[in-house]
Amino acid sequence: MKTGRLSGEAEVTDRPIPTPGAGEVLLRVAACGICGSDLHAFRSDPGFEWIQPPVTLGHEFSGTVEAVGQDVHLVSPGDRVVPIAIQGCGSCDFCRSGVTQLCPQRELVGLSCDGGMAEYAVVPEWQLVPVPSELDLGLAALCEPLAVAVHAVFTRACIKPGQKVVVSGPGPIGVLCGMLADLGGAEVLLTGVERDSAWRLPAAERVGLETANLSEAPLEAYLRDGFGGNAPDFWIESSGSVRALGSALESVRPGGKIIVVGLYAEQMSFYPTSAVRRELDVVFSYSCSYADYRTALSLLSSGAVDPGPLISRYPLRDARKAFEVTGGGRVVKAMLVP
Ligand SMILES: [Zn+2]
Ligand SMILES: [Zn+2]
Repeated sequence: MKTGRLSGEAEVTDRPIPTPGAGEVLLRVAACGICGSDLHAFRSDPGFEWIQPPVTLGHEFSGTVEAVGQDVHLVSPGDRVVPIAIQGCGSCDFCRSGVTQLCPQRELVGLSCDGGMAEYAVVPEWQLVPVPSELDLGLAALCEPLAVAVHAVFTRACIKPGQKVVVSGPGPIGVLCGMLADLGGAEVLLTGVERDSAWRLPAAERVGLETANLSEAPLEAYLRDGFGGNAPDFWIESSGSVRALGSALESVRPGGKIIVVGLYAEQMSFYPTSAVRRELDVVFSYSCSYADYRTALSLLSSGAVDPGPLISRYPLRDARKAFEVTGGGRVVKAMLVP
């Protein structure tokens, strides 16, 4: 089978189809998205030295159960599923209370063990979430990033109708957070910079979001036009830029809230007194839990969220090209199809 594999260098190679062990399932992969973390691994960026090649990349995938190992009781061949990207130990307090993404012994599918950029993948049965029958598997592969946005916007932020929300960073998580805040009745402004102007901001507009190119005009100008000059109630920071996080701390209204979902390569300094005097809430949001996957799948299958216009599909054999366009910001979400 073909696999998108990191082994010193990222390449598409031929490997034997794996055999599921006890409690494991062989999935025929339908589609696998390329995530920012895959890109960091692909480029061997700082902070990703812990990844030990060779490993098959990919944690945003969907598939059909092809075969099951011994003692598998939860699924059977033909079932359509998505795997949860983070595996916890299953026995610590975090895992038992349903926040496996905080487990100290967590493993990330497609980074610490083989993932879904392949024709077939082996996954433990308890890690699979059933896909509703009416949902296309190609869209279901977007479940993981949507679940990350669900965790940020619905589980961690609790945005109310009519509230004014700025989302910084028009990558997949930012656009999906914007779509969910919009679905929740908020007024949303998605910000980006010049390099986002050709592809990512127009894609966000195609799914109905108001956008702002901060290289063209300052944020205040957009707030004047979009929010009637009011300061935002909420700010969702998904760009991973400490400058954007600094703007969030300066710009939200007194009593406002900032949800931080980006990952940062730099340290930042900020003046806490101003945040104290305005009683700001800053909430961090990391990955997602099983419950967020269920919510994401029901939003996709009901059509409440339609991220179709955000997806660009590539055959798995063109994985390198798909990584390059992702790295260049020329797509919102590249999806590899085996
Ligand atoms: Zn991801
Ligand atoms: Zn655990």
